[in-house]
Amino acid sequence: ELSKSAGYALEYAKQRGKNRMEYYAPQIVAHRERSLELTELLRDSVEHGFRGFEMYYQPVFSGTRALEGAEALARWRCDKYGAVGPAEFIPLLEQSGLIQPVGRWAFAQAVTAQARWGRRLPRFKMGVNLSYLQLEDDEFFPFMWETIQKAGADPKQTILELTESYLAANMERVADRLRQVRRHGVRVAMDDFGTGYSSLGVLKQAPIDIAKIDRTFVNGIQESAFDNAFLRMVVELCRVRGISTCLEGMETEEQWRAAEPMHLDYVQGFLLGRPVPAGQFETQFL
Ligand code: C2E
Ligand code: MG
Ligand code: MG
Repeated sequence: ELSKSAGYALEYAKQRGKNRMEYYAPQIVAHRERSLELTELLRDSVEHGFRGFEMYYQPVFSGTRALEGAEALARWRCDKYGAVGPAEFIPLLEQSGLIQPVGRWAFAQAVTAQARWGRRLPRFKMGVNLSYLQLEDDEFFPFMWETIQKAGADPKQTILELTESYLAANMERVADRLRQVRRHGVRVAMDDFGTGYSSLGVLKQAPIDIAKIDRTFVNGIQESAFDNAFLRMVVELCRVRGISTCLEGMETEEQWRAAEPMHLDYVQGFLLGRPVPAGQFETQFL
């Protein structure tokens, strides 16, 4: 029993980023059981035509509140647990390998919407989140070009979002691949900027087009001198390098007023629009 419990704690520690220690607790087993069950339900969904999956779209605006595009965000629900958030199901898809089929499905949905909305608003850009496993999959890129073409979408208006924590840790290895993607016109965004362990120095070399600054910095934009200065410095460093900036998580008019003088290129947040299904996006934002 002890050795089994230690094994669960080890597995849990590995899942939470490796190189760390976890004490065994009964919640670990409960967490493990839920994860196993959700993984089976996710597999079942994938095998039944992605049943329960749906793409939502959150509008992205310019610094002067003009619609610039959207970010595609996956949603999933099942009968037993109802709606389950991506923070929980994305890691399960990654661990089980299901991220490849789901990631492709999500990408195809997003660029199809991009093509449709781009006909109404030519500058319309679509951001799609990519798991690091998709970036490392050699078959993803041929799929990506083919899907963009088939959908009739403009590759220059497609943005691949990859997290800072992954990009910064693997920059040397993935830089070539990112350059290749960008040569074809597709843009690359560094997502959740400021939450990883990298320094501002990562902005010096990173082959990216857009830095998406994590919403934790918006929370402190008024009260925290550090957060405010951090935002201004990121914007300044990005401007020098020709990288566009996007601030995520704008929730109040006060935050908007505090951010306005910073001249961000893009802003996203509940103040301007929540993620909604495609049909609702059209009526509400287009
Ligand atoms: P992300 O790419 O950084 O997406 C932004 C998240 O912030 C979304 O959460 C969005 O709903 C939320 N958000 C936007 N504005 C606000 C705001 O004003 N206030 C607050 N409190 N939250 C805001 P969501 O949809 O739960 O997604 C969480 C994460 O899951 C995403 O973070 C992304 O990393 C991942 N994810 C979502 N869809 C996909 C997908 O299709 N593929 C992959 N690989 N990852 C995905
Ligand atoms: Mg994102
Ligand atoms: Mg983000």
